[in-house]
Amino acid sequence: MDPDRWDRLEQIVRKVVREELDRRKQKREAKQQIKLNGKGWQGIDDELVATWKAAYPLVDIREHLSLAAAWCRSNVDKAPRSQYARFVNCWLRREQNSRAAKQIPKAGAGPMKCSKCGDDKAASYRRTRDGNLCPKCLGEQSEN
Ligand SMILES: [Zn+2]
Repeated sequence: MDPDRWDRLEQIVRKVVREELDRRKQKREAKQQIKLNGKGWQGIDDELVATWKAAYPLVDIREHLSLAAAWCRSNVDKAPRSQYARFVNCWLRREQNSRAAKQIPKAGAGPMKCSKCGDDKAASYRRTRDGNLCPKCLGEQSEN
């Protein structure tokens, strides 16, 4: 064959390969399309759930997928009409952050019991050499 025919052949092969890759890409994107139907989410595969589980370890993903779906169906005006993956991701991140915040002890909160009288109803306790003391025991101590 002459060089021109090789060129043409190469162009045809490239075109076919490109079309095939495009078709596969479209198929993949169609598969990744998440939809909301009467029963809940459609198109969320195990791989995506695993990704969310790894990113948001404090969140029960399946539970919150149901909650998010229920929210969408109950708040039609506010619910997104597309980009559901983004919406669910934000939902899960918010839940993760809220749970993480609850796990952090509040600043200044120490063991809530007086080491001297055992009182556990006071609003605050101060850490001293004698342990954590309630305001009453602190007062008595300073008088001594
Ligand atoms: Zn006390």
